Amino acid sequence: MQTKSPSTEIVRDELTQLLNRRSLERELDQLSTKAVWAVHPPFSVIICDIDYFKLVNDTHGHRIGDEVLQGLAQRLQRQLRRDTPLYRYGGEEFIVILTETELKEAVDVAERLRYVVCYEPISTSIGAIEVTVSFGVAQQNPDRDHQAWDVVRRAEQALHGAKRQGRDRVKAEKGES
Ligand code: GH3
Ligand code: MG
Ligand code: MG
Repeated sequence: MQTKSPSTEIVRDELTQLLNRRSLERELDQLSTKAVWAVHPPFSVIICDIDYFKLVNDTHGHRIGDEVLQGLAQRLQRQLRRDTPLYRYGGEEFIVILTETELKEAVDVAERLRYVVCYEPISTSIGAIEVTVSFGVAQQNPDRDHQAWDVVRRAEQALHGAKRQGRDRVKAEKGES
């Protein structure tokens, strides 16, 4: 049986070239270790989900949908610092982990990401396509969260709120008990 050495392990997503879910899982596990867990200021998580993306596929085809995903991923990553990766979490969902960043600052980052998507359509081989993205943001709260995945879960709840309230918006999960 062939085993993969760490150096050949696939860490990037083939379509977008972003760090993949496996890389995200590793990062979250690391953040969950006790030593890191105690740090202050806390980290925050932003989760992004393209609005009505199924409609893009249904209207223009899956291949153009792929181009939109690639263009959007590049645009979002360019807005972030070099040491802050954007992860491809699932199909059309992305995650940013902001170390030493409190909720208010993370919301500002998410608002900036939202703006760069909605202000200019994404270029594709059949022309520019308008998309918007919804965002959920949560800040680590050591009193409530036992591991980093708990923060992701709360960011997802905030994202659902953003979808319910009409999409193309940022919602924060305050994490108060
Ligand atoms: P919402 O605003 O509620 O998020 O609506 P939505 O249509 O974006 O949500 P839904 O989860 O129904 O659809 C997500 C779509 O993303 C469906 C799936 O086909 C598409 N998708 C997931 N991964 C890929 C991919 O790699 N390429 C393409 N082209 N489409 C993908
Ligand atoms: Mg989705
Ligand atoms: Mg979606």
